[in-house]
Amino acid sequence: MAYEIVCGLEIHAELSTATKIWCGCANEFGGEPNTRCCPVCTGLPGALPVLNRRVVAFAVKAGLAMHCTIAPRSVMARKNYFYPDMPKAYQISQYEAPLCLGGHVDIETSAGPRRIRLTRIHIEEDAGKLLHDAYGTGTLVDLNRCGVPLIEIVSEPDLRGAEEAKAYMEAVREILEACAVSDVKMQEGSMRADVNVSIRPVGATEYGTRTEMKNLNSFRAVHRAVEAEAKRQEALLAAGKKVAQETRQWDDNRGESRGMRGKEDAQDYRYFPDPDLVPILVSESDVARIRAELPELPAERRARYIGTLGIAEADAALLTRSRAEAELFEAVLAQGVGVRAAVTWVVVELFARLNAAGRSVADLPFGGAALGRLAALVEAGKVNAGSARRILGSMMEQGGEPAALAESMGLLVVADEGGIAAAVAAALAGSPAAVADYRSGSAKSFGFLMGQAMKAAGGRADPKLLQAALREALDGPAEGKA
Ligand code: ADP
Ligand code: ZN
Ligand code: MG
Repeated sequence: MAYEIVCGLEIHAELSTATKIWCGCANEFGGEPNTRCCPVCTGLPGALPVLNRRVVAFAVKAGLAMHCTIAPRSVMARKNYFYPDMPKAYQISQYEAPLCLGGHVDIETSAGPRRIRLTRIHIEEDAGKLLHDAYGTGTLVDLNRCGVPLIEIVSEPDLRGAEEAKAYMEAVREILEACAVSDVKMQEGSMRADVNVSIRPVGATEYGTRTEMKNLNSFRAVHRAVEAEAKRQEALLAAGKKVAQETRQWDDNRGESRGMRGKEDAQDYRYFPDPDLVPILVSESDVARIRAELPELPAERRARYIGTLGIAEADAALLTRSRAEAELFEAVLAQGVGVRAAVTWVVVELFARLNAAGRSVADLPFGGAALGRLAALVEAGKVNAGSARRILGSMMEQGGEPAALAESMGLLVVADEGGIAAAVAAALAGSPAAVADYRSGSAKSFGFLMGQAMKAAGGRADPKLLQAALREALDGPAEGKA
């Protein structure tokens, strides 16, 4: 029997507001345990939360970027459960009346473009962290993360396998990054996904029973988890067993998941509207103002690169993977470099080197403007391409200004008459046989002599000037010049 994978993601992203969602505590990653909290975010009895206005603005911005409808009135609700990372024994979230409804995210897959529908985006608070094994066999609690604002982006079960799940998460990350509402640092847990997976016979219209794996924090983990879970479910069905609806723990080191607990139903949480918080009202003018602040989104930028700049699709995709990469490329263009040259310098030269070295644009000791000035030196014929690659290599290690490096590394093109003439003379003197061959009609010898002359100039001669000077030396002054 052939099966189809069905998958839906609940992506949590921390919002990068200056302060937390209900209090004035700093919203920053890390810190000494339990130093960035107060009676409100730790949920002491009697403390009252006040909603941070910017959390709503950020969530609306993310919602608009993902084409959601913004609810004019939404409500915070208590989700009741006991776990030591949440001292008040409930999480303030949204349930019946979320802030953003519907929407979609477009992704590219090997089978072409796909539109993934969203169910909703809602606001909630993050929980603290449990530190196991840090203190003997005990567990310590760090509440610094309590009250960090989150949005939860819930997709419809529209993803059809590991590749789509990964592409979807990448697309969401790019959008949130472009909107500057989250720092989307997956390694710090700023963005993580609960992955729901089921399988069904190809052609079936009903969904199968799903399992859920919580808190996956890399694209690779999402991809592997979907594949492994679909395989596990297939083996169960092949053995005549049933898939149990449950929450499973994905172990990325072992590449497998194990059952944690039966999946809770919404009613287990006894949701009810939080009586401490008033409903959230968002006016049409609020929405219009935030919509006007939306930046160019990754998909729009990609379309502009392809449509207006005439960049090939594959290059456009690479250039728009992150805001940092696109901004670097645009800084190269801003130096007056032609589009094709700019693409070559960024994609072929820079990205390839970064890839090979396992580095990213973020830790380069120079910016796009400097790379643009290097490309401009090549376009102006002041440095040749081979030399420019050497200069780029040096810039990648210690930064620096391309023109100054060209000078100090002795890589400026030799274009003065004396230098060119000396190179030509050296080539002719060093290869009398080739000169004789040329004069008796062997055109091939010209190329050889050109190579010798370039070598004599240390590879730095302006090739056009060198060629003209060599011809003149061999053939006598060119016509029209005589
Ligand atoms: P919860 O997990 O909080 O109970 P939902 O029932 O709304 O919430 O579903 C959460 C996620 O599970 C959504 O992203 C949805 O697309 C996905 N999902 C629901 N049913 C299935 C299914 N049969 N197979 C795979 N994913 C599913
Ligand atoms: Zn606080
Ligand atoms: Mg869930």
